[in-house]
This record gives sequence, C-alpha cells and structure tokens, in this order.
Amino acid sequence: CGIFAYLSYFVEKDRRYVADTLLNGLSRLEYRGYDSSGIAIDGEENEDTVIIKQVGKVSALRALVDSSNLDWNKTYNVQTSISHTRWATHGQPSPINAHPHRSDSKNEFTIVHNGIITNYKELKTLLSNKGYQFESDTDTEIVAKLLKYVYDSQRGQHISFPDLAKAVTKELEGAYAFLIKSVHYPGEIVAARRGSPLLIGIKTLEDLAVDFVDVEEITNSAAAASINDDKAPAYAKRAQSRTFARADGTTQPLEYFLASDPSAIIEHTRRVLYLEDDDMAHISGKGDLHIYRLRRDDGLSSIRSIKTL
Ligand code: GLU
Repeated sequence: CGIFAYLSYFVEKDRRYVADTLLNGLSRLEYRGYDSSGIAIDGEENEDTVIIKQVGKVSALRALVDSSNLDWNKTYNVQTSISHTRWATHGQPSPINAHPHRSDSKNEFTIVHNGIITNYKELKTLLSNKGYQFESDTDTEIVAKLLKYVYDSQRGQHISFPDLAKAVTKELEGAYAFLIKSVHYPGEIVAARRGSPLLIGIKTLEDLAVDFVDVEEITNSAAAASINDDKAPAYAKRAQSRTFARADGTTQPLEYFLASDPSAIIEHTRRVLYLEDDDMAHISGKGDLHIYRLRRDDGLSSIRSIKTL
C-alpha cells in the first residue's frame, strides 16, 4: 500500500514523462506490498481526468498504460497526477476496487487512499439513500462520492478545495492518508493524513530555498459546509502561503512529489516536509503550499520544517 503523486508548475512536461514518473514512483513503493495499482492523470484539457488501474504488479499497470491510446506527446504547463498501490482491506483485489476511486462517471473527483474508513457503511447508506450508486466494494469510494455530494450542495458558493475537503474529512472515522484531485480545481491537490504516513517532496530552484512553513491559526473558517449542515466553528489553522515567485514577479518552475514513503521521492529531491497527523496540505493552481490543521487543540508545534533527506 502506497501513495505517490507528481505535480508540476510552470515547467513543460509531456504526458509520457508524467506517466513514467508515476510508474517509477509506484515501483519504489512495491516493497511495501500490494495487490493492484492505478494512476489518474490530466486528460486532454486540465478539466478532465483519465484513470487507469490494474490488478497485479506495477509492470502490469505499465503495460496497460502503454497500450492505452493516449496522446503521449501532449504537454502540460501545470499538471497534477496521483497514483496508488493497494493492499485490499475492503473488497477483493480487482480492477474496479483498485485506486484511484472516483465520484462519478465524469471523474469529477478522484482519490487515492491508504488506510481504512471505519464508518464507511453509514456513509454509504446515507449516500445511497440520496441516489449515489457505488461501483466498488471499497471503503475509499465513499470519500469520492461524499466530495461530490458536498460540492454539489455548495454549488454557486465557490467553496475552496481545502474547505470542501475539510467538510468531508470531518465526517470520516478511521485511519487514512489520502490525496484528492478534481476537475473543478485544476492544478490543485489536497492531501490529508491521520494515522498513515505522508510526506511532500519540494523541488524548486536553489535560490528559492524554503526553510519552513508556518501553520497559523485563523479564527474564521469558511469550512462550515458539511453533510449535516453543521455550522462548524473554526477548527482549521491556516498556513502562510508560499508564493514561489521571483523578485521580478515571474513564476518559478516548481515540482512536488507526495508519497507515503521517502524512497519514492529521494531520486527527485531531498527537500521534504513530513505531514503530521491531522494536517491537511493544499497545493494551489499556482503551486502555493498551505497546511491546515484539522483539529484545534492538539498542542503540536505550528511549524513544519522542511528537512533534508
Ligand atoms: N481500505 C482501502 C481499500 O481497501 C485502502 C487500502 C490500502 O491502504 O491500500 O481499498
């Protein structure tokens, strides 16, 4: 079981490079054990997502990716892609139970998850009663459906991606590390962890070394949306934004590698930030990194240092 994501901002990469980076990242995680694997990458436009998943070895996934009729020369200026090796806990190993999971047939929200959502049955019943149809037997799929449900119920109110993810995460019990990608938030990724490891590798130009990210408390969170329509008080702490802009205002090439294990990151960058339990990281469409706290009174240090592997 492992998670790997590759995000690039203002650096032109073709789809072949993106797919190979994901597949190589997954093969670095193979030693952790898994029964199936999958990837989600940007489609022809930033507003669509392609999912490819397979049972068995990463080599079997690679063969499936290679035999797909994707345009390998397509280039991206900004792109976000996520991938996963699965160790089945809920639902047999099968292509449909493999991750990424999706909210709907248009892949509006795609998610990879390590861990177990222990209250998934209640949430599945709740969403089934609202007309949602499930295609897999996993606990994970409810998170994708719940994202769409809350998003649709907020439509027109421009809920931010982290606020949406916080509203959904509030409903989840159990252990997780997950990444969310959405056609509604092109170039953005939300990552969260509770009980399962997750770290972020950051690759910038040398002169833009970032030494730490402050996590600041905010008193007014817009994250009041929830399936219970509970006007939640502020429970988030918000990080300062990192803009990664040069002094002349131009934008810096930047790449992120998110993984459950440093072994998938070290070949790309040695600069990593480990998320703590109940941290939620958001990377914006411009490549800014924010970190939010999902709990209020945790007594944790409010600084996440960038460490060198
Ligand atoms: N519980 C999820 C599933 O069975 C995730 C398993 C994992 O950590 O790989 O699909």
